[in-house]
Amino acid sequence: MRPLQSEVEQRGARIFEIVDQHPESLFSKAGFYQRMMALSMRDEQFKAQLFRFVDVLPSLRKSGDIVEHLDEYFADMRNGFTAFIHTGVRLARIVPWVSGPVLRWNVSGMARQFIAGKNPNDLMKTLRKRRAQKIGFTVDLLGEAVVSETEADKYAARCLDLLETLARETRGWTDPLGRNSELFPVVNLSVKISALYSQINPADPAGAIAHLVPKLQPILRRARELGVFINFDMESYAHKNTTLELFKTIFTEEEFKDWPHAGIVIQAYLRDSEADLRHLIDWGRARGTRFAVRLVKGAYWDYETIKSRQNGWDCPVYFQKPESDVNFETLTRLLLENESIVTAAFGSHNVRSIAHAQALADELGIDRSSFEFQLLYGMAGPIKRALVEMGYRVREYCPVGELLPGMSYLVRRLLENTSNEGFLRAKFAENVSATELLRDPNELVKRDRPGSATPATTTTPVANEDRHRKNGASLDTAPGDIYQNSPLVNFVNKESQDKMRAALREVRGRFGEKYPLVIGGEKVWTDKLTPSVNPSAPKEIVGYVPEGGIPEAERAVKAARAAFRKWSRTPFEERARLLERAAAIMERRRYELSAVEVLEVGKPWAEADGDIREAMDFCRFYAAQMRRFGRPRLTQHVPGEDSYQHYFPRGVALVISPWNFPTAILCGMASAALVTGNTVIMKPSEQSIICAAMLMQVFEEAGVPPGVLNFLSGHGSVIGAHLVDHKDIDLIAFTGSREVGLKIWESAGITRPGQRELKHVVCEMGGKNAMIVDSDADLDEAIVDSIYSAFGYQGQKCSALSRLIVLEENYDRVMERLLSAAASLRIGNPEEPGIVVGPVIDEAAYRRILDYIEIGKTEATLAYQAKDVPPHGYFVPPTIFTGVKPNMRIAREEIFGPVLSVLKVRDLDEAIEVANGTDYALTGGFFSRSPANIERIKAQFEAGHVYINRSCTGAIVGRHPFGGFKMSGGGTKAGGEDYLLQFLLPRVVTENITRHGFAPEETQQYRDEFLWPKR
Ligand SMILES: Cc1cc2nc3c(=O)[nH]c(=O)nc-3n(C[C@H](O)[C@H](O)[C@H](O)COP(=O)(O)OP(=O)(O)OC[C@H]3O[C@@H](n4cnc5c(N)ncnc54)[C@H](O)[C@@H]3O)c2cc1C
Repeated sequence: MRPLQSEVEQRGARIFEIVDQHPESLFSKAGFYQRMMALSMRDEQFKAQLFRFVDVLPSLRKSGDIVEHLDEYFADMRNGFTAFIHTGVRLARIVPWVSGPVLRWNVSGMARQFIAGKNPNDLMKTLRKRRAQKIGFTVDLLGEAVVSETEADKYAARCLDLLETLARETRGWTDPLGRNSELFPVVNLSVKISALYSQINPADPAGAIAHLVPKLQPILRRARELGVFINFDMESYAHKNTTLELFKTIFTEEEFKDWPHAGIVIQAYLRDSEADLRHLIDWGRARGTRFAVRLVKGAYWDYETIKSRQNGWDCPVYFQKPESDVNFETLTRLLLENESIVTAAFGSHNVRSIAHAQALADELGIDRSSFEFQLLYGMAGPIKRALVEMGYRVREYCPVGELLPGMSYLVRRLLENTSNEGFLRAKFAENVSATELLRDPNELVKRDRPGSATPATTTTPVANEDRHRKNGASLDTAPGDIYQNSPLVNFVNKESQDKMRAALREVRGRFGEKYPLVIGGEKVWTDKLTPSVNPSAPKEIVGYVPEGGIPEAERAVKAARAAFRKWSRTPFEERARLLERAAAIMERRRYELSAVEVLEVGKPWAEADGDIREAMDFCRFYAAQMRRFGRPRLTQHVPGEDSYQHYFPRGVALVISPWNFPTAILCGMASAALVTGNTVIMKPSEQSIICAAMLMQVFEEAGVPPGVLNFLSGHGSVIGAHLVDHKDIDLIAFTGSREVGLKIWESAGITRPGQRELKHVVCEMGGKNAMIVDSDADLDEAIVDSIYSAFGYQGQKCSALSRLIVLEENYDRVMERLLSAAASLRIGNPEEPGIVVGPVIDEAAYRRILDYIEIGKTEATLAYQAKDVPPHGYFVPPTIFTGVKPNMRIAREEIFGPVLSVLKVRDLDEAIEVANGTDYALTGGFFSRSPANIERIKAQFEAGHVYINRSCTGAIVGRHPFGGFKMSGGGTKAGGEDYLLQFLLPRVVTENITRHGFAPEETQQYRDEFLWPKR
């Protein structure tokens, strides 16, 4: 027998031979599409603009808008075809009523290339043609991004309709091969799980499965009656485990246990895929009924790499294309070797991958009628023909639906077709030789590259570059780049879910424990304890902390003052290391600290984890920043004189923090003060004292010296006010309400007898944040992100969205989807992982928000209010008002709860006026696909942080320095490069270094810290 490689080469050569008998250009259709693809492959910038233009086009209704967008996307383009583009744009401007429809027609043509029909009737025409060519089909209903249960239900109903139509219209059709036809029903439907349930949360596969099973049952039941095959497509990694679990769960049910016509997809680009496939095969054997697996490489490579890099996650996909190819072959073997239980479908256009499957099947003695090749509609026509001619079973994946929901599918295909790494481009556009295309991918894997198959590393190559950059940090380096953010916990992993559940149990187990104040390094108790309750179940007491009064406040000031002298002279490197040790301890206790937040302040899992991550980031980022600011820096090169600027700490810092980011904000303000050499009194919000006590424990374990950090709890109106006015407090770092913030600002301006320094205030307050939805916005994203921004953590983030400003052209479409998306939110106790909306913090907040809802009812129209909120606990139903005008109270006052006001505006001018017409300027958002409008918003939106085409919450340390202006704050930026300067006093030391007319030639840019005598 010949070795496998030469068999593969022989088969591959045969396929190419047949393909070359019917020469066809890269894709089945010539003309506009082909020219666009050719240009895209030559020019990355053009490609990006083209794909964006294609993405927005279906949502543009007026010809003028189409031409405007064309101009905005392409007019500034400078490349080899500038003249061609400019002429096109100029022409289009002259006759927009002609050029608009022509453009739309051409781009629709691009989509039609990949979409088998707009509706079932269209589709049937295609399927009949394919039948004549002996090509089977699997139909995919376009419409993957469902934002609500209404949309998910529609998708399910469309699936059922389609089943009926396909079964009826194909009556009498038979299998083209005739052999083993019982394994391959003629009608085959591919379903997307995410389109059946809008609230899939990767942390909660069980919750998703509980919702999905009843939705799938009627579809499966009908499919079985009609003799239809159902395949579960595989989407992004976040949905992978849920999809696999769902498949196993539902097909183990008594009703479907013996049904062989079910299949699922395995993506070979995933590092997990081999383990997943082995588990599936084991499951299949235990179940005892045949099932099918479609093996593909995976369609979300770019998405997965970007997403994991943004979140600091291990990247789930291989980095090198040949690694995916090698794994595809490994899994091909696994499938064929288990042919007795699993029917294989090879979903690939790559002749090497296909030829390998053929050769291996022959080697294993498997008849070619017992597996199939699947290829996408509109791609690789000649390969399909070749496979049919060689006697293989071929099935085409046929998307059906309208252009708008088809856009993300189209863009995925365009990306794939123009990818440098793709087979189709190599073969049909670049004419790479058959020998090269048929090489064993094992030979092409570069073993020494970061992230290659050999070492077990899974961080991206770029992430590795980041680490190098860290070492060479200079003032020119982007401040966020001098260190890597701590990763978020990826709750996709079962291990993370288990750890979180265990932590919640463990923290529950110590409910009611007492935690001391810490002053001057001593544990302090008073005769009164403050309880902290679980807002989901207010009868439960999470823990107690002693209530401090004026005597404890005085004691804390004395301790901090006494510790200041030594701490201020401690080298900054030592102080930076303290912060890094604290971060490491938080890392070790991460799940426990998150669990405390879930139970004490009602944060959903991912939000709680985000808070702990932010606290760690603050510590590490500020430590890194201090190393940049700590060394005296030359002010100017001048002969004979050295002038160095450096910083002194300010003195004793009072840190007053809120409950909504109970660890991160407290830790951020305290760590900034500490690393800069100030001593600190932490006075957390009364609602989050247990989180604060935990943070104190962290710093004690990290070795903070006595008196340097003091933990004081008590009533803000008593000890807070006393300390703000205290002559021995030099600096106040405050985050909280406008009311308290303004009082602090005012009081700090008064100089008291005996006061040494002018008090400095770092003051961050609330917002009345607006999101503008432009008429061309991508609503799939705008709705999901607006809902999350408004109702995530119950709207209790200072960055939360509270005014949604919608352009009238789009208003009805936005509102229809927005209201049903709100109605789909899961509300409940955030100990459950799938919950998005939990309780508000306490009874006072509960009452205040309900009062605002009453005000809203008198001012505007109540468009939506959730009904089924838990009866106990401080649960406020998510509420949406429409018909809101800018002067109404609900549009002006900060509510700090799950209440959203929607304002309808004429155009972008009015939208900007309304957005800026508020006392606050914290965050703002804009959804648009018009480059010109985006540019305008960048210039004109008055907010400390303007977010474009994403949610307006979730700032990340170093990446999104956070803080606002107007009545939102004093203009400081937590997590930004200049934040530490707020805690420091600048000082310059000038030395005349000329001696008798002689001076050294060179002065150093930096010098070592000025050192105090050790004594
Ligand atoms: C019938 C059918 C059904 C499909 N269903 C699904 C599905 O349910 N879910 C899904 O995700 N995909 C699905 N796909 C798409 C499939 O995953 C591939 O994206 C596509 O077929 C291209 O792979 P190829 O083997 O044809 O081409 P090739 O050109 O050989 O491979 C391209 C693929 O290689 C991988 N790749 C690219 N660059 C790199 C890199 N740097 N490192 C590692 N890997 C890289 C990517 O997966 C990319 O799509 C389906 C494809 C077909 C034909």
